[in-house]
Order: sequence, then structure tokens, then C-alpha cells
Amino acid sequence: MRTLGTGSFGRVLMCKKKETGQFCAMKIIRKEIVIKLKQVEHTANEKNILACIDCPFIVQMIEFFSDKKSLYFVLEFINGGEMFTHIHRNRYFTSDVARFFAAETVLAFEYLHNLDIVYRDLKPENLLIDSRGHLRITDFGFAKRVADRTWTLCGTPEYLAPEIILSKGYAHAVDWWALGTLIGR
Ligand code: ADP
Repeated sequence: MRTLGTGSFGRVLMCKKKETGQFCAMKIIRKEIVIKLKQVEHTANEKNILACIDCPFIVQMIEFFSDKKSLYFVLEFINGGEMFTHIHRNRYFTSDVARFFAAETVLAFEYLHNLDIVYRDLKPENLLIDSRGHLRITDFGFAKRVADRTWTLCGTPEYLAPEIILSKGYAHAVDWWALGTLIGR
């Protein structure tokens, strides 16, 4: 129906399911681009992790399918826009609002970390607000199951924890660093 956002590897379209009339967000990623940008493993992680997640503060995947050209992630549609837009509209959040969204992010990270999943891309562009004013984390393109440590340099420069930059191996704590950076904005 319309474009909701364009990301690094594809775009997200607003769609309506013919049978049920349910609105959804369909993230379409071109296979060619995934291969070219060496993101095959990250994209497989994104699909496998989204498939097993069920948390009120994380976008739910409804379906996944692929064809010759592309991968299709069908996600529930979150209609309140990105936190990025809300921050820039208000310049900053009051302490109460910041505390509320920080608390919901903490709950989402606790859920993920209990499953040994590190998210690795916290930023206001990836935080959506739902129709009831609650937070939903989207974009699991850098999420990974990490039992011990991992080394890949990925994420967004402003939010990178020192241990990611120092290449000494890192784990789930990098998500807490990113949350600290976000709260300080
Ligand atoms: P990429 O991994 O390519 O950066 P994202 O998953 O971050 O793509 O999606 C890009 C943008 O699309 C998001 O920042 C958001 O604005 C929009 N978007 C993503 N998922 C949804 C959703 N479930 N509902 C509404 N909008 C969404």
C-alpha cells in the first residue's frame, strides 16, 4: 500500500492480508544485495531469531517466505512511527517519558539475553511506538545467538561499546552500553 521505510538492504512496505484484512509490514530484502554485502549469515540470524521470539516489546513476525529474487519478512504493522521521529519532533523526551521507554527496552533486552541473544543495533530508528504508546523493537539484522563471546564489528557508530571497537571479543553487555548512550541523547 505504501513504503514505511527504506533500510540498508531493502524496503519495508505496508500491506493488507487479502483473507483477513489485517495490516502488516513486509520487509523485502534482495538476495543479490545480501550476498554482495556479505550479510548472508546476519540475514539468516534475523529470520531464525524473529521466528522464535514472543515478547510484547518486540515486533512479531507473522510469516516468512522467499522467491528467486528476494526474502520477505511479514511483520505485524506498528503504526506509531519511529522513536527517532518523536525525539526530533519534541527535541528531547521528559525524564518520565525517557524512563518509561528505557524500562520497556530493559524488559525486551532481559528477554533476549535470557535466550542468549544479543541485539547489537539499538537506536531510535529501530524503536517503533505502537498504537497504545508502547515500545516495539524492530530490525533484527544484527541480532545473534551468543553463548560466550563474538567478535564481528557491526552496529551503528554512535552506539558502539568500547569492547566492540577494541576487537577483543564481546557479549550481551554491549546492548546495555547502547541503551546508556540512547538515554543520554
Ligand atoms: P533495515 O534492516 O533494512 O534497516 P528495518 O527493519 O530497520 O530495515 O526497517 C526500516 C524501517 O521500516 C524502520 O526504521 C521503520 O520505520 C519501518 N518498519 C520496520 N518494521 C516495521 C513494522 N513492523 N511496522 C511499521 N514500520 C516498520
